[in-house]
Amino acid sequence: MPNWLLTRTKPSYGAQALPGTPVALIVQKYGGTSVGDVERIKNVARRCLETQRRGNDVVVVVSAMSGETNRLLKLVAQISNHPNEREQDVVVATGEQVSIGLVALAIQAQKGKAESFLGSQCRIVTDSTFSKARIKSIDAERIFAALKKKHLAVIAGFQGVDEEGNVTTLGRGGSDTTAVAIAAAIKADACEIYTDVDGVYTTDPNVCPAARKLDKISYEEMLELASLGAKVLQIRSVEFAMKYRVPLWVKSSFTDDPGTLVCQEDSSMEDLVVSGIAFDKNEAKIAIRAVPDVPGVAARIFGALDEKAVVVDLIVQNVSKDGKTDVTFTVGKADIAKAREIVKKVAKAIGAKGVELDDQIAKVSIVGVGMRNHSGVAAKMFQVLAKEGINVQMISTSEIKVSCVIHSKYAELAVRALHSAFGLDQAVAG
Ligand code: ADP
Ligand code: ASP
Ligand code: MG
Repeated sequence: MPNWLLTRTKPSYGAQALPGTPVALIVQKYGGTSVGDVERIKNVARRCLETQRRGNDVVVVVSAMSGETNRLLKLVAQISNHPNEREQDVVVATGEQVSIGLVALAIQAQKGKAESFLGSQCRIVTDSTFSKARIKSIDAERIFAALKKKHLAVIAGFQGVDEEGNVTTLGRGGSDTTAVAIAAAIKADACEIYTDVDGVYTTDPNVCPAARKLDKISYEEMLELASLGAKVLQIRSVEFAMKYRVPLWVKSSFTDDPGTLVCQEDSSMEDLVVSGIAFDKNEAKIAIRAVPDVPGVAARIFGALDEKAVVVDLIVQNVSKDGKTDVTFTVGKADIAKAREIVKKVAKAIGAKGVELDDQIAKVSIVGVGMRNHSGVAAKMFQVLAKEGINVQMISTSEIKVSCVIHSKYAELAVRALHSAFGLDQAVAG
């Protein structure tokens, strides 16, 4: 860290800090909805400048305008069913370039000073796994140089550059990860993720009106919720925050609500067995029928998928009958075409009977560190689903979560029923 930053008064974080209080270094990330149109971009500029005027140094990370990344991906799909991922990244990374330019212009229009930066311009170096690259390093010097001039540094989320100079992207929702990684690299006092909800809820408030906002959530629980489909934070962003102890806030860009703090588990957190429910409709199930039950077969199937960077989630292998068994697993929907092609080849080579694909599934999960000390939680989940007439297709458990794969048409019903059964519904006023 450069000298001028080390010589600042010891930062005491607080976006709500009053003028005259010691300066803090804050990273603010604004998601797609928050920069969804020109008025909202002006609102973002106003909020960033306000934070700066309170005496803070501010780094702003922005996503593409809402719907833009989907629009770009659709264009790619119209050209190719199996797009080259290097070129796809060149296309989809453009959404964030537009946003940083517009936000920087909006800040300047409000008499502030701002400089925009692409991922490559502040050397957000990633590996070369196009479409889901991982950040390896960030050169903070360019950011510090802007801050030293009292400029707001406006940085493109979601994108990086590999060692060879190729444009890469970090996976859907990746701007969260850009923000937290930058916060870790510049040792920011806080990273604030501004979105269209005012914090982390016990489940997606757009699906379950009874969901409750949490004041605090542990990194561990947030990690689990994010990995199980709660898209309010990208999973890698929570991993970075946990590893580098970045105080991470989720807030709304439309209100002044203090939001939710994601931090280390402490005694002030609510003592619940289940603290959150997540669901994921972005996976598909692949079943390989009548696989010869001999050593090395699973290694061949999953080795081939891993070689092509297909991430496999749940895996179930049936008890074998007559030396044959069924192997069923789930992959992200974005990888279906790739996975099907690979699995069909391997199935033929190992003499399996056939491959079936089902993309009408949802994974519904209950999460809570309190589960460590309670038994019967999974059984209760199965009973709740059974009562609603929902068939469980696959099950996976860990110390702090239980996941069930069900038909996708029941996802919302299952979330609401579980939310209520595990006592998470907010009290109704009156
Ligand atoms: P952004 O574009 O700002 O990155 P996202 O759409 O990626 O926003 O994430 C915000 C959305 O996450 C919310 O609108 C909400 O529907 C969803 N969400 C899912 N689970 C939760 C949860 N537990 N708490 C809050 N929001 C959640
Ligand atoms: N624009 C990218 C996406 O839609 C990244 C992000 O919004 O975080 O996934
Ligand atoms: Mg997001």
